Amino acid sequence: MINEEEINKLTKEALRSNLDSLGRIINFLGKYENSPIAKFGIYSIIFQYVFNTHEETGKLCRQCGGKCCKVGYPVPVYNFDYNEMKKHLQLKLQKQGDIYLLPRPCPFQKDWMCTIHQFKPYACLSYPFATEDEQMNTIKEYNGKGLPNFHVPEYCLSGKMVIEYMKEVYTNLKNKLNRDPSPKELYEEIKRIFSNK
Ligand code: SF4
Ligand code: SF4
Repeated sequence: MINEEEINKLTKEALRSNLDSLGRIINFLGKYENSPIAKFGIYSIIFQYVFNTHEETGKLCRQCGGKCCKVGYPVPVYNFDYNEMKKHLQLKLQKQGDIYLLPRPCPFQKDWMCTIHQFKPYACLSYPFATEDEQMNTIKEYNGKGLPNFHVPEYCLSGKMVIEYMKEVYTNLKNKLNRDPSPKELYEEIKRIFSNK
């Protein structure tokens, strides 16, 4: 059984493009795959892995100008993020309850880029697919059949590209299998594609 600290660590590793950690998280969540929420969780982390790993996103984020780091509510920084960040930075963040807050516009953004990419918080690694606020309506609407209907802001060029890319991967796999692929089969397909890049 994986404890909460290990899940947080594995999830951050997965979102930093580690396929093995992604596989371990999916195996763990796969036990609950009959629940639409767990299935949604698996798809959201696969989409986010692709978002964080796909070679096109850097170019599109540059074109967008880094809007997600400029606008919106403050970014939550959990204790496990804070402990990692403070090894590298002198941090003075406001706290609300148990959570630290990073203001937006973010002081760590330079031009369109993140200057703390190697140790940015979980919420930044999870944007936009594994971020609950961004996908709240998608979770509510999802009935566990096929891919969730992920929504991203109109200005998020990278998010829109990933949605189209994943629909194509899913449809090709569905045609090959002659049925809807399971989330684990989608992960295996993504692993095959991204291991060969
Ligand atoms: S809003 Fe989307 S496209 Fe723009 S920088 Fe953020 S992730 Fe990239
Ligand atoms: S930490 Fe980096 S990714 Fe997160 S909001 Fe700030 S600049 Fe953006």
